[in-house]
Amino acid sequence: MTVHFPFQNSYSALPDSFFARVAPTPVSAPRLIKLNRPLAVQLGLDPDLLETPEGAEILAGKTVPAGADPIAMAYAGHQFGNFVPQLGDGRAILLGEVIDKSGLRRDIQLKGSGPTPFSRRGDGRAALGPVLREYIVSEAMFALGIPTTRSLAAVITGEPVIRETVLPGAVLTRVASSHIRVGTFQFFAVRRDTDAIRRLADHVIARHYPDLLHAERPYHALLAGVVARQAELVARWLLVGFIHGVMNTDNSSISGETIDYGPCAFMDAYNPAQVFSSIDEMGRYAYANQPRIALWNLTRLAECLLPLFGDEQEKAVAEAQDILGAFSETFSAAYQAGLRKKVGLFTERDGDEALIQDLLDAMAKNQADFTLTFRKLGDAAGDPAADDARAQFMDPAAFDDWAKRWHERTALEPQSAAVRQSAMHAVNPVFIPRNHRVEAVIQAAVNDDNYAPFEELVKVLATPYQDQPEYAAYADPPLPDQRVLQTFCGT
Ligand code: AMP
Ligand code: MG
Repeated sequence: MTVHFPFQNSYSALPDSFFARVAPTPVSAPRLIKLNRPLAVQLGLDPDLLETPEGAEILAGKTVPAGADPIAMAYAGHQFGNFVPQLGDGRAILLGEVIDKSGLRRDIQLKGSGPTPFSRRGDGRAALGPVLREYIVSEAMFALGIPTTRSLAAVITGEPVIRETVLPGAVLTRVASSHIRVGTFQFFAVRRDTDAIRRLADHVIARHYPDLLHAERPYHALLAGVVARQAELVARWLLVGFIHGVMNTDNSSISGETIDYGPCAFMDAYNPAQVFSSIDEMGRYAYANQPRIALWNLTRLAECLLPLFGDEQEKAVAEAQDILGAFSETFSAAYQAGLRKKVGLFTERDGDEALIQDLLDAMAKNQADFTLTFRKLGDAAGDPAADDARAQFMDPAAFDDWAKRWHERTALEPQSAAVRQSAMHAVNPVFIPRNHRVEAVIQAAVNDDNYAPFEELVKVLATPYQDQPEYAAYADPPLPDQRVLQTFCGT
C-alpha cells in the first residue's frame, strides 16, 4: 500500500505570479525521527503508512506523493523594519492542501526540502536542531490552546548542512491553515498589482474568514478580522510568557496562527524587556513590545489593502486607521481578561487591573518565575498555607503584601477555594518548553543521535495544564549554570 494524501489544492490554482512550481530535492538516506500520529489521523492520513520507509521518503521530499502540486510561495516582507521586496519560500515547499476531519483546509509543507527560486544565497536546507525546536515549541503551543501551525513530522535527511559547523540536515513537515502572510500581500503591493491583491484577498476571505463573504465591505471587514485575530493571538502569547523573536511581516500569518518558530523562547523569570534572539540587538521584538509590533505589521497590511477600499485615497486611509484603532482595545480586553483568569478572578471590579499590575511589577522586581508564580498561586487559592508562589520572589515579603490584597479581593466572590483553584490551574500551565530543556534535547539528538529526551519532552508538553508528578522536574526553572541567554534562528 502506498500513502494516500487526499490533496485538494487551491493555492496552486491562483495566477502564476503567486508562486514558483518546484519539486523538493531528493536526499540520500531519509530516516523518520518523529511522526505526529494524532495529527496525521486528523488530516486523514494513515499514520502506519507514513511510518514506513516510503512514508519517510515522502516526508523528506525524496518522493512526491500523488496529487501533490509542489510550489514555493512568493512573498515580501519587512525584516526588522527594513522592506525586502522579494523573500518567498527559500527552503519550504508546499506539497498541497488537505481537508481535515473537521472540514478545515490545511497546508502540508516541507521545510528544509531543498532550494527554490526564492533561495537567494541559502541552501534551502534546515538543520536538525531548529527542526526539533520548531516541533517541540509549535506542538507545545497547540497543547496550550494557542493558535499555531503544527508539526506533522521530523525526518533527518542523511545529508549534512553547513552552518557555523557541519550539522545533520532535517526536514520538518509543517501544517498550517495557510502560509499566507502579511508579506504575501506586500509582494503584490510593491508591484502595484491590484488585481493580484484582490485575488489574494478573495482567496483569504473564502478560506479564513468565510463569514465575511457577504459583508457589505468585505475588504474592510477582512482587515478588521485579521486585526482582531492578531490582537488576540499576541495577548495569548503574553499570557504564557512566549516571545516570538522574529515578528517580521513575513512571519505574521493572515489566519492568526503563530508561524515561523526560529529563535522563539518562553521566558523563565518575568521580565517585560526580555529578548533571547541573538539577532534582535535593539530589542525590537522584546516580550512586551510584541503588541506594538503586531499593530505595526497590521498597519503594513492595511497599506496593501488600501487600493481595495475605494478610489478616494484620503477616505480609504481614514477608514483603515479606524479599523487599526480597534487593535489596542481588542488586545487589552483579551490580555486583561486572561490576566484576571490567571489570578482567579471570576468578576470584574475597579482596581483589578492595578492589583494585577502590582503583582507583575513585584514579579519583575523579584525575578519571579512567570509560569510557576501563577501556577503556585492557584495552589495558594486552594490552600492559603501553600507558599510555593511566595518562594518565587527574591524578597518573599513583596509577595505577602500583595497576597493579602489578593485574598481580600477573591473573598468578595462566592466561588469556593476548590473551584477557584481548578479554574486557575486550567489556564496556568505547569509545563512550558523551557529553553534549557529544549537545548538539552537538541544536544542529545545532534551529538548522540539520542531521541529519547526529545520524545519525553514532547510527551510532557502535550498536557501542560496537568500536574505530572513523575515529570515534576520539567517544571523547574534552569539552575544558574543551565540558563540559556540567547537563541538562534539557525537558518
Ligand atoms: P525566516 O528568517 O525563517 O523567516 O526566513 C526569512 C527568509 O529567508 C525566507 O524567505 C526564507 O525562505 C529564507 N531562508 C531562510 N533560511 C534559508 C535557507 N537555509 N535557504 C534558503 N532560504 C532561506
Ligand atoms: Mg519566515
